[in-house]
Amino acid sequence: MTNWLINSWRKTSVADVAPEPETARAGASFAARLTFDAVRKQYGDRAALAGLSLDIAPGEIVCLLGPSGCGKTTLLRIAAGIERPTGGRVLISDREVASDMQFVPPEKRGVGLMFQDFALFPHLTILDNVAFGLKALPREDARREALRMLSRVGLTHYRDQYPHILSGGQQQRVALARAIVPRPAVMLMDEPFSGLDVQLRDSMQEETLRLMRETRATSMIVTHHPEEAMRLGDRIAVMRDGVLVQTGSARDLYQRPVDLFVARLFSEINEVPVRVAGGRVDSPFGSLPAPGLADGSEAILCIRQRGVGLEAHVNGAKGQPGLRGVVRSAKFLGDAVRYEVAAEGFDRPLNVRAAPGAGQEPGQEVRLVIDPDQVLVFPPKDVKTT
Ligand code: ATP
Repeated sequence: MTNWLINSWRKTSVADVAPEPETARAGASFAARLTFDAVRKQYGDRAALAGLSLDIAPGEIVCLLGPSGCGKTTLLRIAAGIERPTGGRVLISDREVASDMQFVPPEKRGVGLMFQDFALFPHLTILDNVAFGLKALPREDARREALRMLSRVGLTHYRDQYPHILSGGQQQRVALARAIVPRPAVMLMDEPFSGLDVQLRDSMQEETLRLMRETRATSMIVTHHPEEAMRLGDRIAVMRDGVLVQTGSARDLYQRPVDLFVARLFSEINEVPVRVAGGRVDSPFGSLPAPGLADGSEAILCIRQRGVGLEAHVNGAKGQPGLRGVVRSAKFLGDAVRYEVAAEGFDRPLNVRAAPGAGQEPGQEVRLVIDPDQVLVFPPKDVKTT
């Protein structure tokens, strides 16, 4: 894959490109709205996108999240103009850039693209890599602007070196600088952090967010990782089989997932088959609401692993709340311990994530209490995640 730069450079004033200190700002971009209106993309008899509508506000960062093959990259490529939609429309700031009647080529869309493998040009110096997207500027101006952005990502001293001497994280920084230096109105990123180790990913995410906020680029970021989406996105758009399943803030999606598929993406859950009666389901924890589900229908009771409280069982104590259980295993995970607990009334052990302080041991008797807000009930759809 190539790391694309598809930008039309906006003319800047002399003041814009005047020398600035090392901490110079990345520059302020105009804010664009990115709109997908019932976009379809057909590959043979397979619908990669099946009528998807999404509106991304100027300056907003939206993360596209979903399993492999659900159409995330296709949507990104259609926004960039690398692919043509089979149907529907794409608009940038209310200007139609793709439809039955219209097709604006990539270089005229004011869009920056960044893929996961960075793909720097090996025969160009780091500085020339960054300056690559500034061809419309006089060479000296382009170099000055590129230097400014290199300084912004902390790599000024590598400017005359070639990409092969850089570490993965440094290459990623150069790729980011290269994509963002032309100040695209819209930034499209396809899994930009997936090649980085955890620590590096963390700092690059922060840096990228800062730059995007400064440039006010309207951004669409493809990711496989719910946590990354929660961290980066003002909004998350969850896709499955070429359609949007749910869009909303991280909090919305976590607290009010529309179905089992979205619930599974955002938290570790115990799934217990139950039957609905009178708008409620019976469980060993008592009767719980099952709004909107038909009487007599099967359902899945989802109990968040973090929604179960674990307390030591006190022998002989009267009225101790909660279900009785026995710890089967305890796995220390640093910031939490994952317990497997055989609980009365459940056919299978429950998984519980608790703070490490609890310190329960295998074989120990415990009491389990649930927070009703951490319990959800859904129809048992055939849902798959990867
Ligand atoms: P991943 O997360 O694995 O990158 P994705 O969600 O980005 O997946 P896409 O790459 O958009 O998914 O692909 C969506 C569907 O369209 C897949 O079934 C894929 O095989 C198919 N597809 C994508 N590009 C083409 C193509 N050029 N020709 C035929 N089928 C394609």
